[in-house]
Amino acid sequence: MSCARFVFRCFRSLERLGDRLTGAAGPVFVTLGIILLSTGAICFFEVIQPSMPLRWLLAPICILIVLNLSAHYFYVCTISPGFVDEPPRMPGKGLLWAKKRQTARNRALAGVRWSEDVQLTRASVSQCRRCALMRPERSHHCRICNRCVLKYDHHCPVRINQCVGLYNERHFVLFLVYLSIATLCYAISGWPRAMDALGWNDEPWTYYSPPVAFLLVYILSVVLSLAVTIMVTWHIWGIASGETSVESQDHEHYRKVAKDRGETFINSFDLGKRKNLELFFNIGTDGYPLYTLLLPLKIEPYTDGRHWARRAGFERHPGVREGEELTDDDE
Ligand SMILES: [Zn+2]
Ligand SMILES: [Zn+2]
Repeated sequence: MSCARFVFRCFRSLERLGDRLTGAAGPVFVTLGIILLSTGAICFFEVIQPSMPLRWLLAPICILIVLNLSAHYFYVCTISPGFVDEPPRMPGKGLLWAKKRQTARNRALAGVRWSEDVQLTRASVSQCRRCALMRPERSHHCRICNRCVLKYDHHCPVRINQCVGLYNERHFVLFLVYLSIATLCYAISGWPRAMDALGWNDEPWTYYSPPVAFLLVYILSVVLSLAVTIMVTWHIWGIASGETSVESQDHEHYRKVAKDRGETFINSFDLGKRKNLELFFNIGTDGYPLYTLLLPLKIEPYTDGRHWARRAGFERHPGVREGEELTDDDE
């Protein structure tokens, strides 16, 4: 496990370095992302898809993957992460919004949406040293946005040019999941056509898509399928552990401090792998149906960012004492 952690850490550091180096070029990268996604989709449906086995059976699945990939990329770029100085958002209406399970209980709930077998506690507040706002637990100040973000995960200038937080984290993770699936499919099923494009098969190139564009997307897919799969596994592992990216580092520190004192640090947001995933994707009896993971729909998070689900009987994390919590300045 420690080896896997080391590999994940290395990728994380590389990602951070990339984010820093390319901070100013955010909009350029988003435009590049859109161009590459469109080129990839065109090349796939013109060159690869027609020669796939069971093509008519697979076509709807391929279309669904491309729709999910594009929609979640659009959502993660356009839905703001949620800032501390904004009022809680209400769920939107319209075609793009998933329909929630209608139970008597969730009709009566406003702001905070879960109740069944989950203990929701009001988050403790602390003052931000940078913008002086009173902010709930799990918020952090983003130096690039210069605002306090609810359930701050990280600022991502390369892919989405904004912060990942409470309202767009689900789209961020689903975007990575679909990107990993799409690039894996492209890398595996595009291999014979990549040989054609290189002229190694003596097959004439009879497609409208230029072979250079096809090869460029193919090479990118091979690299991304590896990198994104590792990254998304790391993210999902964090979600299943009830931690954001920032918290996974903080908790490591708390664990060490507690151990030195002969105590044990417990993450009180960790309700067990399954429940943590259900809460993150807001799936379950009080949330949305499971199929919302397969459709390019918007859903609201389980909380307003001012209340958190905690292990029964816990008000805070045992093992870390008052005043010992890391602030944004320590990171
Ligand atoms: Zn702040
Ligand atoms: Zn930010």
